[in-house]
Amino acid sequence: MPFCPVCYDEFQEWVKICPDCNVALVKELPVQPEREETDEPLVHIATAPNEPIANMWSGILEEHNIRCLLKGGNLGAAMYIPNLLLPFEIYVLASEAEKAREIITPFLED
Ligand SMILES: [Zn+2]
Repeated sequence: MPFCPVCYDEFQEWVKICPDCNVALVKELPVQPEREETDEPLVHIATAPNEPIANMWSGILEEHNIRCLLKGGNLGAAMYIPNLLLPFEIYVLASEAEKAREIITPFLED
């Protein structure tokens, strides 16, 4: 089965190019990277008002061994607003959402 070397998706034999990454598929992945995989959904737990705060929150969560994903604000607005002022959304794995909310809640209050 061909694989995409970028996103590691597996495709059917007749597919030659990954439609997502636009790269040629390879027969086998050379080295299976150590990836922590999970089918767990991500849950939105908070929106930080800007990137430095989002980074601070994610640092706090990571200290508690909670992996998080930051999603930068609205791209439409990015043309007018410097990155520093864009809100960032914070996502964590569903199983860790409750703990993450507890940790982050004190920081949400002004
Ligand atoms: Zn791909």
